Amino acid sequence: MIRPKANKKNNKNWYECRVGRIEEDITTHRILARMAWIATKLFNTAMWHARQTWDTTGKIPNGIALQKVVHASYYHDFLPAHTYQHTAHQVGNSFRSWFQLRKKDKTAMPPGFRRKEDLSAFLFTGYGFKAVTNNCFLFTLGPKLKAELSYPNKRLTLRVKWNTPFPVGGQIQQIEIVPRKDHFEVHAKVLMPEPEWRKTGQIKAIDLGQRNPVASYNEDGQTAIFKGGQVLSYLQYWNKEKARVQSEVMGRTATRPRKKRRRWSKALGRMARHGNAQVKQAIHAMTKTIADRCGEEDVKVVVLGDLKGIKKNEDGTGKNWNRKASQNWQQFPIRQVVDQLRYKLRRRGIRLIEIDERGTSKGRCSVCGNTDRKSMRRVHRGTFHCRKCDTHINADINGARNILHKYLHQSEWLRQPPDEGSSGFLADPSIYRWDDHAWSVVG
Ligand SMILES: [Zn+2]
Repeated sequence: MIRPKANKKNNKNWYECRVGRIEEDITTHRILARMAWIATKLFNTAMWHARQTWDTTGKIPNGIALQKVVHASYYHDFLPAHTYQHTAHQVGNSFRSWFQLRKKDKTAMPPGFRRKEDLSAFLFTGYGFKAVTNNCFLFTLGPKLKAELSYPNKRLTLRVKWNTPFPVGGQIQQIEIVPRKDHFEVHAKVLMPEPEWRKTGQIKAIDLGQRNPVASYNEDGQTAIFKGGQVLSYLQYWNKEKARVQSEVMGRTATRPRKKRRRWSKALGRMARHGNAQVKQAIHAMTKTIADRCGEEDVKVVVLGDLKGIKKNEDGTGKNWNRKASQNWQQFPIRQVVDQLRYKLRRRGIRLIEIDERGTSKGRCSVCGNTDRKSMRRVHRGTFHCRKCDTHINADINGARNILHKYLHQSEWLRQPPDEGSSGFLADPSIYRWDDHAWSVVG
């Protein structure tokens, strides 16, 4: 799967990954299946070379050596050019990650060959294809492949169509053909057109956190809190299960043959996928609920404190969330929430802006502007209390209000006089909880 990167700073060059099921006739199927089969061959050729290098020298083959191997193979020229480089990368990467794993676990198996009846994905980039419409592209078969399939005409151009048209105005930059059980899919990286940004409406500020992943405050005073408890308990459950199975695997490695061990590690992989799927579903539902609400509440801009501001969990554990590697199984995947919100809001023409929230969310009373830490405290269940103005307010809503304030006043925000007419905010926030199917308001 291609992972499109978006330019986060200015929302320009916005890519999305789109998937479509290819509508096959016999010719298309025959050609694609042959190419996917060759992609497997190519992968195994590179893998064979990598293993050979490892066995004889004890070193991981470098990328250039692998690229040379795939270029020199009999199967060169059968596939679109970029696929060769891509395959070399894949093999190199799987060896490198195995090498890392090996430092911790001496029994880790080196990366293996693909079964020869399996089909592999292949990749078109740049001039390798021509997008005709938003659900069709053309490519020309290489001479070797054409000869092998014994097509007589000089040039054979294949027209590949898929069922779900990509967004109008989007430009397809890269196409991956992915074999599935009984069909093929296109996974395309699409450069998206600039949306029609909303010009009128209100601003919503969001404070991100662990226990309450999202706490929001609108300019009109509406508040909402999304509770992370249920999702965190999934994460903890799967984490425990994983540890249990892992220790079982370790306990048996001495006595069990390789095959059994492999079966256990497959079980682990399945579990991780299942746990991930549960969490993923909850996160997608959450970001959709928020984006839908933004539409209903006539929001034009959503402001977030950027993740650099949040370093630790409430209990002091955990690391910088901004780094992907430190996102472990115990933490609410905030980064995913932000990434999904960004594109779901964009599709609705709503801008998402991250501001530096350092010092804003926890260290300031959003009602009177007091920043003297001695005169404020957190009372039970995440309530913030300011002694100066005697306000009790949910700590995360206080954070969201501070973010809104900072966005509206930018650098001047600390010296601003108290908010005017701030009585509306004390209305109880809508509390959203996940019930395994949807996020709904409780209480
Ligand atoms: Zn105060």
